[in-house]
Amino acid sequence: MQRLQQDIGWIEVICGPMFSGKTEELIRRVNRARLARQHVQIFKPAIDDRYNARQIVSHSRHSVDSIPVETAGEIPALLQEGVQVVAIDEVQFFGNEVVEVCEGLADSGVRVVVAGLDQDYRGAPFDPIPQLLSVAEYVTKQLAICMVCGNPAGRSQRLGDGTGRIEVGASEAYEARCRGCFRLEETSGAAPDRQAELALESSGSAGSTSSDEMLEQASPKTSARARIVGGDQ
Ligand SMILES: [Zn+2]
Repeated sequence: MQRLQQDIGWIEVICGPMFSGKTEELIRRVNRARLARQHVQIFKPAIDDRYNARQIVSHSRHSVDSIPVETAGEIPALLQEGVQVVAIDEVQFFGNEVVEVCEGLADSGVRVVVAGLDQDYRGAPFDPIPQLLSVAEYVTKQLAICMVCGNPAGRSQRLGDGTGRIEVGASEAYEARCRGCFRLEETSGAAPDRQAELALESSGSAGSTSSDEMLEQASPKTSARARIVGGDQ
């Protein structure tokens, strides 16, 4: 990738199920770019106030500052002069608008790195990842390890009925499963966006299991920065 001319942009997609290390890989690429003194900006979706009000900050090395945005359309206006790399985590929570944004950035010479779930809890393609895969120059499909049998796992199995309130520790509500162990009937009929909410919450809490310090920001909405935690999400 680094052999390309510097004035040419491109799109990299990191996708896979929960617990496959997508965020960790995104952070690794971001940090490597920063080591080369490249100008990097990182964004993540701010789904609603509940999530803005509960940011988890890890003190592990696997975390980076990020800017929460309500929609992908906000990103271009937030870009700083001379930005060379734009990373977007949890990209499945943005609508298809994010595809246009990524294309525009890449066309203007920016290296775009996005990470997100490629399948929802039903095992169905999770927009806009399929669209991003189509237009990306580089695609990395990560796999987790099936928590039932230990084989490579590409799906996120929701456990329980998923109808309770969203909890910080919701990573327990999901397991990485292989094709053979994935069971659609174990999930409830909750709407996909509900699943999306749980997935986001879960990923946010993933880092806390390995972090001895975590804190809640009182009013992150007023803070321009959030934290992406590179746990095992
Ligand atoms: Zn399995």
